[in-house]
Amino acid sequence: MTTREASAVDTEVVVVGAGYAGLTTAWRLADAGVDVVVLEAADRVGGRVFSQVSPSGVRIDLGGQWIGPSQRRFHALAARFGCRTFPTWETGRHVEIRADGTRVDYAGAAPDAGPGIEEYERVTALLDGLARTVDLERPWSTPRFAEFDALSAEDFFRAETHDEDALLRLALAVQGVWCAEPREISFFHVLFYLASGGGYEQLMETRGCAQDARFSDGADAVAHALAKSLDGRIRLGDPVLSIRQTAHGVAVTTGHTVVRARRAVVTVPPAAVERIVFDPVLPAGRRGWVRHSPMGRVAKVHAVYEEPFWRAAGRSGIATLYGDSPVGVVFDNSPEDASRGVLVAFVYGDRLDRWAAATDSERRREVLAALSAVAGPRADRPVDYVEKIWPRAGRTIGGYECFVTPGGWTRYGRDGWREPSGLVHWAGTETASVWNGYIDGAISSGERAAAEVIGALAAVRQPG
Ligand SMILES: Cc1cc2nc3c(=O)[nH]c(=O)nc-3n(C[C@H](O)[C@H](O)[C@H](O)COP(=O)(O)OP(=O)(O)OC[C@H]3O[C@@H](n4cnc5c(N)ncnc54)[C@H](O)[C@@H]3O)c2cc1C
Repeated sequence: MTTREASAVDTEVVVVGAGYAGLTTAWRLADAGVDVVVLEAADRVGGRVFSQVSPSGVRIDLGGQWIGPSQRRFHALAARFGCRTFPTWETGRHVEIRADGTRVDYAGAAPDAGPGIEEYERVTALLDGLARTVDLERPWSTPRFAEFDALSAEDFFRAETHDEDALLRLALAVQGVWCAEPREISFFHVLFYLASGGGYEQLMETRGCAQDARFSDGADAVAHALAKSLDGRIRLGDPVLSIRQTAHGVAVTTGHTVVRARRAVVTVPPAAVERIVFDPVLPAGRRGWVRHSPMGRVAKVHAVYEEPFWRAAGRSGIATLYGDSPVGVVFDNSPEDASRGVLVAFVYGDRLDRWAAATDSERRREVLAALSAVAGPRADRPVDYVEKIWPRAGRTIGGYECFVTPGGWTRYGRDGWREPSGLVHWAGTETASVWNGYIDGAISSGERAAAEVIGALAAVRQPG
């Protein structure tokens, strides 16, 4: 008997990954009486949702943080475990810093007038109209599916408008939602994603939309509650290296053990699937899908201050920045009781590539310069400065989520998106039809995968 065999574990279903998708899958399976083991590479649960206390004692969300009212599954879980939310701060005047450095204060969703705004609004209304035609369960059945999937978002935008200011606005929207550039992403994927979240405004706005509220105890509080209810079934710090399928089941090998099970549910993002060795190799459709699903590139930077001083000046802390700054968007991320002031800056897409290559002090200087331009010179002297550069984060490789490159949906969507590969089932937010890319989508993907597995196990138990 080899050492590995000596430490082998037998179970009914093995779940790979303890983010929201993996935890929900396992919780649903355990609830149905299925024996389950969860293998997680990191030394914590939550995956792309990760709360931490800053050096001066403020809880900050380094990854996913917001919840919107139509994210019903996430709300239901939060309510079940008693995890409280509070409204995102948006009182006061917002700031737009334009490509030529002009600073504009405004209230509402966007400045009333300005370069490119009218044309930008016309194109986004067009996107919403096209998104309404998307079939979320069978995306390949959508009218003009292949035509739109052959285009990048940039191809479509440039065919639609010659207004360079509108194009800049559209580019920042793509960076803000997918952490990628318009040239990189399938235009069909843009439509699918808009449809999946309920439309452009739902994705972009705060009150009543995706950025509506935050969690009092961090967005991973629900994940920790789920993990607690799965007591003893989660193995942390145990990265899955390979998955072998036989006629009888799966053998999942980590650095420490082999878990043998009847089925596996893999919940890691497509870009992380590439790092697992499959024997036999995955079907061509799934391999192609994974190759066409790179991760977005994002960093979240928190600057903590003694107080939210911008509020006293009538500012919301919400800002949009065009031009050379690495920062695209800023929000007030202060704690609910405003005992400190916190600004969070998002750096994404090409801006992230350039900024991340700079030295620690250059990165800090650039972000604080952006925050000072938004909130005033006091922003240059934070109590804490905390960066989370997601492309450097272990096995996650980036964020917020994987997007699909042009042609990926047409060539590989039907077979590769979430169709099981033999005894291996797929979950993770990237497999969701509703709120794809969000925590809510991760939860629904876990519910779907658990139901799929329960059905498959029952079919084997009752042949014919
Ligand atoms: C900066 C940032 C901001 C975001 N903001 C929001 C937001 O405000 N609201 C929102 O709803 N969503 C947001 N998101 C997206 C949201 O966090 C994700 O959609 C969601 O957390 C994905 O959950 P998941 O379970 O599908 O995947 P993950 O959370 O990625 O879970 C996968 C797990 O698998 C593990 N893993 C990977 N490889 C292996 C392996 N080989 N073996 C074992 N384990 C492995 C990983 O460590 C991870 O824990 C944000 C994401 C980021 C990065």
